[in-house]
Amino acid sequence: MSRNYRTLHDPNAEYTMRDLSAETMGLSASRGPRDVEITDVQTTMVGGNYPWTLVRIYTDAGVVGNGESYWGVGEPEIIDRMAAFLIGENPLDIDRLYEHLIQKMSGEGSISGKVISAISGVEIALHDVAGKLLDVPAYQLLGGKYRDEVRVYCDCHAGDESEPTSNAAEAERVVDELGYDALKFDLDVPSGAEIDRANRHMRGPEIEHKADIVRAVCEAVGDRADAAFDCHWSYTPSSAKQLLQAVEEYDVWWIEDPIPPENVEAQRVVTQSSTTPVTVGENVYRSHGTRRLIDEQALDIIAPDLPKVGGMRETQKIAHHADRFYIPVAMHNVASPIGTMASAQVATTIPNSLAVEFHSYQLGWWEDLVEEDDLIVDGRMTIPEAPGLGLTLDLDAVEEHMIEGETLFDPAP
Ligand SMILES: [Mg+2]
Repeated sequence: MSRNYRTLHDPNAEYTMRDLSAETMGLSASRGPRDVEITDVQTTMVGGNYPWTLVRIYTDAGVVGNGESYWGVGEPEIIDRMAAFLIGENPLDIDRLYEHLIQKMSGEGSISGKVISAISGVEIALHDVAGKLLDVPAYQLLGGKYRDEVRVYCDCHAGDESEPTSNAAEAERVVDELGYDALKFDLDVPSGAEIDRANRHMRGPEIEHKADIVRAVCEAVGDRADAAFDCHWSYTPSSAKQLLQAVEEYDVWWIEDPIPPENVEAQRVVTQSSTTPVTVGENVYRSHGTRRLIDEQALDIIAPDLPKVGGMRETQKIAHHADRFYIPVAMHNVASPIGTMASAQVATTIPNSLAVEFHSYQLGWWEDLVEEDDLIVDGRMTIPEAPGLGLTLDLDAVEEHMIEGETLFDPAP
């Protein structure tokens, strides 16, 4: 199946729109050893517990960088479409190339959504390339470290997610056997008391059932772990307020997305109704998307998804803005090791990092995609000192888990 969009776009065509290419900007190519050009951009999709789009940027310096775009259909096509704007450019101009892609893809919708996720994958790969070219870890490009290891929380799934004791047993297992001290469970599970889930209103027995799950998990782990609970945008503001109050006594880490994500005013009212921390943020894009949520203090914890929200520097911008309001960052993450390490690299550079999510503990081969081992030990990711992201893709493993019809990357030169 051909999905070569490059032929649809003549990179030499003249445009009236703001153009940030090196040629139009009149940038000098004479940078000595840093005079490097991007020669190719490739993608392949791997079938993990989500369909992960891996991105590779090739250069004429023999350096190849890896990135990842947030999961789902369409990302490889968008990245193929953007390749014409990247080939021939210097990969070290990360910010300009990011802005160049935002501008060039504006017709495709680059203020949010799939296009931003595709650009995120490119932006991560550019950091990997730049780190390798300059021989420094990605975190060093971003201002350096606050911490050597980043706390990771485990997104957990019990056998019977509606049964409080089943969730409690899984919480104990993940703490005792896997070593995590931070967990998250889904709370938008059926209680058996629902009459009409479309109207988002929760009846009393539904709220009691959710409080039972929260109590069971929190009592099972006690002080050994922090426990968060995700509602996936399910409820009315009034039901959400009742739920937040009902679980106040259990000292939860946070309740995530109790109401739908679009309405900042409704979000603020819910968040400010209770001392239970509310986490929001995985549904918005770029620092523009998080600006009002932060400015209006419509959340207690912000949860940007790095390979979705705009990449490493965009996540850092969001974190810095949040820090002006003393709001911590708990990065949403469902990525392969590439996107997860990009998140951890940024998490070490910001003062207000709470944790990074890990969503693949039941997959079994997550770590096989890279040559490095023991990426997460006892709920912590150690930030590598190797250049760039510090990871090497295992192309045999990528090929083994590739989605049917995908093409394997060319090997690094
Ligand atoms: Mg969530």
